[in-house]
Amino acid sequence: MSPTGSSPDRVAEIAAEIAALGPALPGTLLQRHSRCNNPGCHCHADPPTLHGPYWQWTRKRHGKTVTRRVSTDHVDDYRHWLANHHRLRELVTELEDLALATTDQITGRTPHSTGTDKTPQNSVDPAR
Ligand SMILES: [Zn+2]
Repeated sequence: MSPTGSSPDRVAEIAAEIAALGPALPGTLLQRHSRCNNPGCHCHADPPTLHGPYWQWTRKRHGKTVTRRVSTDHVDDYRHWLANHHRLRELVTELEDLALATTDQITGRTPHSTGTDKTPQNSVDPAR
């Protein structure tokens, strides 16, 4: 019947997955090339050979961009942490959807259709 409804089981599953997720890092991992301050260096030649690539993690927070240099050794770690954050956002979104379905049930509103509704509910018909 209803794929969502109020499903405390799914909420518990999500909570467990979040707890097991590990560091969930927001932001982006970028590759950068740069010039140094030595005018005789190859990075100032024509054509220039820039230094790098360097890995950089950036994140916008409160309108400010936070930047950190990431050593090559830690690039895989950062990728993993960023993926964790992506998964965290998915899980939070799912929690929000479940919360919406639950509040709709409690308040007797017709559930917001997400395009997956197979059984149209015209009347207030809580499943109990
Ligand atoms: Zn240089």
